[in-house]
Amino acid sequence: MRAKASDMHSKDCVKVAVRVRPFNKRERDAGSRCIISLVSTSISIQDPRDCHNRRSFCFDYAYWSHSGFTKDQTGLFVPEELGGRYADQHSVFQDLGVGILENALQGYNATLLAYGQTGSGKSYSMVGYGPNKGLVPKLCDRLFEAIREHQENRQCQVFFSMLEIYNEQVVDLLSRGSRSAAGLRVREELQKGFYVEGLRKIPCENVLQVEQLMEQGTRTRTTAATQMNANSSRSHMLIILQLKQIFSKESITKQSNINLVDLAGSERQRSSGSEADRLKEGTAINLSLTTLGNVISALADVAVGKKVVHIPYRDSVLTKLLQSALGGNSRTVMIATLSPADICYEESLSTLRYAERAKRIQNRAVVNESPTERLVKELKAENARLLQKLSRMDQEGRRASDESKELRQLLTQNELQIRAIQTLWEQHLQEALKDWEQQYANITQERRMMQMYPYILNINEDAQLSGVVKLFIQEGEWGIGLCDSAPRSISIKGLGIQEHHAVFRNEQRRVTLTPLTGSKVIINGSAVYETAELQHLDRLILGSNCTYLFVGYPSERGGEDWSRYDYDYFQSELAAAEGIRLSESSTGCSQTDPSLLAVFYDYIQLMPMVAEANQMSQELSKGVEFKLEIKNLALSDYRGHDLQKDIVVRVAAAGSKQVWMWSKAKFVNRKFLIEEVYQQFKAAQREDNVLGSEGTEEAILQAQLVPCTSTGLPLGEDDILIDPSEVLGRRLDFQLVLDQCCGVRWIREARNRGIQIGFRVFDCSELLYTPAVWHNINPLLDYRVQFTSLQTSQRLLDYLQSSAVVLELWGLQEGCSVLSSSLGAVRMTAEGVFIIDMLDPPQAALSDSAELSCSVRALQQDLEKLKSLNESLRKENDSLREQLNTVKNGADGARRRSLRPSCDAEFARALKVFYHSMTSVRGQLQRLRRHRPSEESDLLGLRVFVDEQSRLLRDFSEQLEGSVSTLKQDVAAIVRRKRERSGIWS
Ligand code: ADP
Ligand code: MG
Repeated sequence: MRAKASDMHSKDCVKVAVRVRPFNKRERDAGSRCIISLVSTSISIQDPRDCHNRRSFCFDYAYWSHSGFTKDQTGLFVPEELGGRYADQHSVFQDLGVGILENALQGYNATLLAYGQTGSGKSYSMVGYGPNKGLVPKLCDRLFEAIREHQENRQCQVFFSMLEIYNEQVVDLLSRGSRSAAGLRVREELQKGFYVEGLRKIPCENVLQVEQLMEQGTRTRTTAATQMNANSSRSHMLIILQLKQIFSKESITKQSNINLVDLAGSERQRSSGSEADRLKEGTAINLSLTTLGNVISALADVAVGKKVVHIPYRDSVLTKLLQSALGGNSRTVMIATLSPADICYEESLSTLRYAERAKRIQNRAVVNESPTERLVKELKAENARLLQKLSRMDQEGRRASDESKELRQLLTQNELQIRAIQTLWEQHLQEALKDWEQQYANITQERRMMQMYPYILNINEDAQLSGVVKLFIQEGEWGIGLCDSAPRSISIKGLGIQEHHAVFRNEQRRVTLTPLTGSKVIINGSAVYETAELQHLDRLILGSNCTYLFVGYPSERGGEDWSRYDYDYFQSELAAAEGIRLSESSTGCSQTDPSLLAVFYDYIQLMPMVAEANQMSQELSKGVEFKLEIKNLALSDYRGHDLQKDIVVRVAAAGSKQVWMWSKAKFVNRKFLIEEVYQQFKAAQREDNVLGSEGTEEAILQAQLVPCTSTGLPLGEDDILIDPSEVLGRRLDFQLVLDQCCGVRWIREARNRGIQIGFRVFDCSELLYTPAVWHNINPLLDYRVQFTSLQTSQRLLDYLQSSAVVLELWGLQEGCSVLSSSLGAVRMTAEGVFIIDMLDPPQAALSDSAELSCSVRALQQDLEKLKSLNESLRKENDSLREQLNTVKNGADGARRRSLRPSCDAEFARALKVFYHSMTSVRGQLQRLRRHRPSEESDLLGLRVFVDEQSRLLRDFSEQLEGSVSTLKQDVAAIVRRKRERSGIWS
């Protein structure tokens, strides 16, 4: 990547837009007041409790989408009158989208972020709903249009990626493979910065493809959300468009990344009043969003000249990925979305403050020119030059000369390099295209099915995720449940869904549903236990909270508007069945007591969450039951004063008979944590109880590997070997000592649990285990096991110097059996010492793939150097030893006794330090050997690889030189001291 000089010092401030949406149904029902007003680009917000308190802010753009609009025949929201103040999707795109597109076409990175509380219109602005397309589809449409326009002078490629960050885990929304529980890794490279490893990039050629990919991504997001029981308002959705432009005439490639980010809801669960929840008001709940706030604050401080030492980009996944968008190489726009309602005052004010800070951030965007094309061109030119030279030499009759051979070699190398670049690229493209065709076929198939069969349609709390999953009910009998592979079954995942949950029967164009024993099925708000016939637009809830709308045969579908059957509708229906309802006349009527309405909406919001919490508690055998209660259901107290109504969650522990009352905020926060524990529990179930497989810190273990005598006595300083190869062919004993495990998370979570450590040393044929230790967060292991090699091989030496003993921490829970090894295949000495290292060393498998043979050769040379260095050091040691002996023999006994041990020990210590450092040098060497370019890397990737390679080499040689010079200094010092003390050479 190269920056254009002229761009180098230009600063771009983050551009900020605000947008106010219309009232939603809840706000209309509650008779909300609009507290936001706009004049040009300045926006004012009025405190509903204090009419004198009005705050004003000024932004780059301000959009009034609250009123003054109508719906045209195509369903588009447009201004009521021509030139009206209503800002529709089109005008927002004209301001924000077009600029981003132009930046990208010029080769700048561009980023668009949507920020605001849940339900404020982030997804509406970014993605859009139905015909009211948002910035992303509009931008893509224009992008492909521009590409067609510029066809003459450039070739363009667009790659599309879509991912989600939930609870600090990255999920690829376009990956077909099963979602790994750990998600994708975020890695950092010198030139590339942070990136998501293995993220799918799908090449796109038109907006249709993009829209279908977005549909597919949303579907993955929806299924993942149900499956993981995750709340989409807590996740961040990122779309990354990568635009590559090849200008053949100028032979340059420009590349820009367009990041389009629909952020998680900005609201925090504030604990009410004096209640001090340990969880600090939900800050821990969305680390990425909190860190984004911190980064923005720090950058805003930088912009006003404050001294800021540290910008915490690295603290969260989101800020790592957005690093270039914030204070870096990107032109960035933020759209802050607001609800206009009085009840959202606090949140809206906080959004405006946030946006004001973001406005101050300064970026330094540069045009990204990739050298791909230029490099190929340069290589070609070099080839041409070489060819010329060759032919000249041919003419001069020096055909067989060394020089010409060398040149021919160079030529072939260059050819190979060019071919490698091209094949890699084409291969990449072919794979992605094949994949895309498959996806496309699936989508078309689904469209056909919709016209043939009845189906159930998912309904999600987040409107953006509703209606994306369609499960078809073809003729005959269909089981529905977790059952993955059963024939004639519809597989769904979600809380409280049984292996075999229910059965659909589709006979003579009538569809029935039969719940199976023990499974929860609710139709139109009421639980059903027997076969029920389904009617078009019936509402189904399966398990704790998997909500679906039943869509009958096409002949039954009228022109009705299905949109009224949203999530709120499902939950209100359910609440009504429990006797909690707003009378028909009260909904939609502004006289309804607003506090009652707020309570009602809180109730229906919490209801499914409580059902989920109960299901999780049951599966985790926690014996805790959650129940929703309304405080002060009566309207007024005995004096006629209005009673403050509130929702509380009653938490009852079956075992201890204790009961707590949690506020809404506390419950929402705690439920998030329960979810986390539940996910870990599920992951542990899947992975046979191996803990910490996702790289989380499970415990700290104190362990040592101690060389010892055959009888198990630890070796002292005097026994230090100068050169490890001295033990080759001789007996070697060492002990693995496991002292204590500290802060075991597994036991911290439940005291009745235990742990065991499993390990395998070198070629020992079985995994060995420590005894089990129970009920202690810091369990004392006090475990010691001895291994011996009767004839030490080079392989064992290598292992000891450069490999690791892997210790596995196993969690035990009540009633499970303790792990032990049969010891059937293990050899032991009479004293009970495990014998290892008995096999013949296999031929070292030296990989020499063509492109790496060179670097391997270089490494081998380095190794040789190391060896010869070792050799010369050994000689030096020998001679020093000899000198020492001379001293010993010549000097008198008493002095000898006092002098010898101290010098020897000093010397041994210096060597110990040296060998110690050699271990890390060797480690470095191993790393270098293992370091390979990833198979997908394009030329840029290869460059990055080579840079990294040279950095590793540099580190390696620095370390090597450092160690040698330390040793030399130490030896010199010892010799000097010795001279001074003995006076022998003076
Ligand atoms: P968020 O993504 O911030 O949680 P959404 O974009 O899903 O919120 O919006 C919530 C609801 O409000 C949706 O039903 C959406 O259609 C509606 N909405 C949001 N912004 C607008 C707008 N500018 N015009 C009309 N409806 C809107
Ligand atoms: Mg949204």
